[in-house]
Amino acid sequence: MDKLKAFIRYYKPYKGMFFLDMFCATVLCGIDVFFPVLIQYLLDEVYGKRPDNMLEIILLSAAGLFVLYIIRYFCQYYITSWGHIMGARMEADMRRDLFSHLQKMSFSFYDESNTGRLMSRITNDLFDISELAHHGPEDVFISLLKIIGSVVIMLTIDARVTLILLGLTISIIIFTAYYNLKMRAVFAKNREKVAQINARIQDSLAGIRVVKSFSNEAMELSKFDEDNAQFVKTKEDSYTVMGRFFSGNSFLQGILYISVLVVGGIFVTRQVISATEMVTFILYINVFLNPIERLINFTEAFQRGMSGFDRFWSMLNRKPEIVDSPDAVDLQSVKGEIIFENVSFSYNDKNEVLKNVNLRIEPGQTVALVGPSGGGKTTFCSLIPRFYEVNEGRILVDGIDIRKIKLESLRKNIGVVQQDVYLFGGTIRENILYGKPGASEEEMIAAAKLANAHDFIMELKDGYDTFVGERGVKLSGGQKQRISIARAFLKNPPILILDEATSALDNESERLVQESLNILARGRTTLIIAHRLSTIRKADKIVVLTSKGIEEMGTHEELLKAGGLYAELYREGAKV
Ligand code: ADP
Ligand code: MG
Repeated sequence: MDKLKAFIRYYKPYKGMFFLDMFCATVLCGIDVFFPVLIQYLLDEVYGKRPDNMLEIILLSAAGLFVLYIIRYFCQYYITSWGHIMGARMEADMRRDLFSHLQKMSFSFYDESNTGRLMSRITNDLFDISELAHHGPEDVFISLLKIIGSVVIMLTIDARVTLILLGLTISIIIFTAYYNLKMRAVFAKNREKVAQINARIQDSLAGIRVVKSFSNEAMELSKFDEDNAQFVKTKEDSYTVMGRFFSGNSFLQGILYISVLVVGGIFVTRQVISATEMVTFILYINVFLNPIERLINFTEAFQRGMSGFDRFWSMLNRKPEIVDSPDAVDLQSVKGEIIFENVSFSYNDKNEVLKNVNLRIEPGQTVALVGPSGGGKTTFCSLIPRFYEVNEGRILVDGIDIRKIKLESLRKNIGVVQQDVYLFGGTIRENILYGKPGASEEEMIAAAKLANAHDFIMELKDGYDTFVGERGVKLSGGQKQRISIARAFLKNPPILILDEATSALDNESERLVQESLNILARGRTTLIIAHRLSTIRKADKIVVLTSKGIEEMGTHEELLKAGGLYAELYREGAKV
């Protein structure tokens, strides 16, 4: 019920358009239903009786019809163009709601979701919904009006012939309904295959560099051929069903006409109805058969649109896990103290990644996290900007529980530089300015200089206006990383997280990146995760994190002296 209300709510901004649409539909139906009556009148009263002013009446009727058809022209024009425009606008509203909701969803949601499927949901479901939103009421309304109008008029001419005609129509209804089910099945299969082949193309093209480096083009092609063959097979099946349906349908209509000729003929022979009345009946077959088929077809559009809306609505109703609490506050001039108090966390309730972690990071301190891969270092860092919510304990920034800080304010004050850099398809300028939309040219260049990026950017043909390609493929790893650091410089956050920012780089890039990272870290509270332990020797505090929790903690010298896990890791690293 709520869902229906929600659906109807999307009509609200377009009430005027909607009612005008319905009005036009009514006028159009009226004209179509009226046409056979006029023909009957002309046949009976004018062509049959040949009054003196015969030509005059005929011309007058023609003029009247002309006016009606002009009206019909405008009505149909409105329904076809503005009806669809209304649907498209409603679709746009829904798409916007969905997109804005997706932006709010938490990391945990995206961990479980498939982007391809989300995208196909946004396009397919919303299209189905908009088709239903626009054609639904109109189709049902027009069809019912036409069916009721023509049946009423036929009944006034002769009830028996009408009933026989309706009886014969049942065969067509059954036939159409049966093929409707069949077509629904093949079309569903069709859509599934389209999704499959699209996913295959997307995956293969997105991974084209891997495909080529393994020289697996032939394998990709053969996998594609398989999908393609299945795809064309289901297409063929659907065209076979469609062919049978349309030809069968026309054939049955032909039979219907013949039946009316025979039945009507018998009635005319017995002088129960007149010849012109029989012609009227034949004309009405067309008027009411078409809407019956439309109603049957509508059931499919209805189901598709409704199940699309179902998915759309349940998605909109999925609450983001992490939201502002009602009493959340803004952070004021952040000093950058971070405290972990008895923090435990697991992604899926099964394996605890962090167990009862206690740690205090002073403002401006540099703290390094080390430990085996999978020990929870990245997880530790993603709890601070509240990408995930702690299960137990609490995290404080400047003495305030982060659950009591507005998300936007918290995240504005934390900069994260990771190993995988994501650049948006656009120019270098756009990507750097992402750190501070609206920053001036000077600010941007200053940030780029600090990030050791300015020189290489100036060497590019288009400088800051160089397009980086999809995900930044036109740049090297080191260049991408330096752009992401420039972004962080522009953002200028008091708290900085560097998660293996140099791991993927060659020695020369690593040196350049490390240099700018050292500048970036100055005057900020910094958490560093580094694969090369030599880079964190100078950290104020080194924390060794394993799946068991914090194993040891201290300065480089202290930990070396203690001779524990850190000392072991450091000696191993030194050998490499
Ligand atoms: P590190 O950065 O120290 O290598 P991580 O924090 O990335 O370790 O991972 C710690 C553990 O959490 C690993 O066992 C990993 O499989 C798991 N993990 C990491 N991210 C997720 C996630 N998004 N969903 C579920 N499990 C995750
Ligand atoms: Mg990690």
